[in-house]
Amino acid sequence: MVLDPATLTVAFVLLSAVLGTLLLFSWVLNRRVRALAWWGSAFWLIAVGIGSANLAHGQPAYAILLVANALALLCYGVLYTGCRVFNGRPVSATALIAGVAIWTAAFPFIYSSHGFRLIVASLITFAYSTFSAWELGRHAARPLASSRVSVVLLLALAVFNLSRGMLGIGLTSVSWIDTFASRWSPSMALLLVMFGPTLAFMFLSMGKESVESEYRQAALVDPLTGVPNRRAFMENAARLLGQLGPKPATCLLFDLDNFKAINDRFGHDAGDRILTIFGEVLAAHLPGQTYGRLGGEEFGAILAQDSREAARLADRIRHAFSSAGAASLGGLAAATVSVGCITDTGADAAALLRRADAALYQAKRGGRNIVIAA
Ligand code: GH3
Ligand code: MG
Ligand code: MG
Repeated sequence: MVLDPATLTVAFVLLSAVLGTLLLFSWVLNRRVRALAWWGSAFWLIAVGIGSANLAHGQPAYAILLVANALALLCYGVLYTGCRVFNGRPVSATALIAGVAIWTAAFPFIYSSHGFRLIVASLITFAYSTFSAWELGRHAARPLASSRVSVVLLLALAVFNLSRGMLGIGLTSVSWIDTFASRWSPSMALLLVMFGPTLAFMFLSMGKESVESEYRQAALVDPLTGVPNRRAFMENAARLLGQLGPKPATCLLFDLDNFKAINDRFGHDAGDRILTIFGEVLAAHLPGQTYGRLGGEEFGAILAQDSREAARLADRIRHAFSSAGAASLGGLAAATVSVGCITDTGADAAALLRRADAALYQAKRGGRNIVIAA
């Protein structure tokens, strides 16, 4: 099969422009994923860079070589910046333009040597691809399946760029090596024609996955306290009770004492802070996914423990909260919690909560700031 270089180049340039446009379009639909705008721009930059370097006839002129490669290197800077932005990290202007700066500074000295130009450009692109993979792999805000695939793709791109640089050190007479190491060849264009859409597709998937994960998070986490909401708590509780089978489970039901009075005296914001503090106390004492905010100033927990053990734990929570809560109110008033505690085997979460509520009622009648185990 004979691959026509000009046709493949046109295909690559047009494809990159289309992919860039799709990524930008996807960003317009979902402005929150700003990385899509960076990645879309990266595809446009490579389209313009490769296009301007290759579409002119004959050996490109000094200015074309300088600018076209600078655009291609800027593309990598933008790609890397997109990865940082995707992880919610700030844009680094230095990292963004470092490649272009090195290229522009070095260009007068390497212009006449194809090998040197190849080495410099390849090492810069190698560094950017590696840092992009590192960024997505190491600084991920949350683990996404599509990010992992992108890391593999970016590492493959790093290996590709590094090997081009190494081969550029001594252009050989072996035809496939010359092809691979040359400025631009049909096989390379073909490789990139396959690689570009794959990477763009993974970037789009990352955008979609991160939005879905945000929505999932919003559906399951209480926005004020950051602890699982009622829905998440009931789901987690059902799962835990299913795993426990015939073993005993303990349900703790917490209700902050005289909370209305705290709101009335210190204001709703102070009340909100107290709720957040209670969420932190729960998080510090209980394994994740065992507790949640059921609504208002009521929280629940389901633990794989017997009654005595769980009541002791509840008492430590009660103590910790009364110190942290009072401190938050400047010592002017007490912030305490009453706890109902019930242990059973084989009951469902709703039944456990109903019975813990009866114990909680006794705790309130018994003067508050106590743990009652039924
Ligand atoms: P008790 O000791 O008997 O539980 O008395 P209480 O005042 O805690 O109980 P009550 O049910 O009378 O009042 C609960 C209060 O919790 C009323 C409501 O305004 C307040 N509350 C519910 N959700 C929030 C919230 O998200 N933020 C704030 N600041 N207050 C809330
Ligand atoms: Mg209540
Ligand atoms: Mg209350």
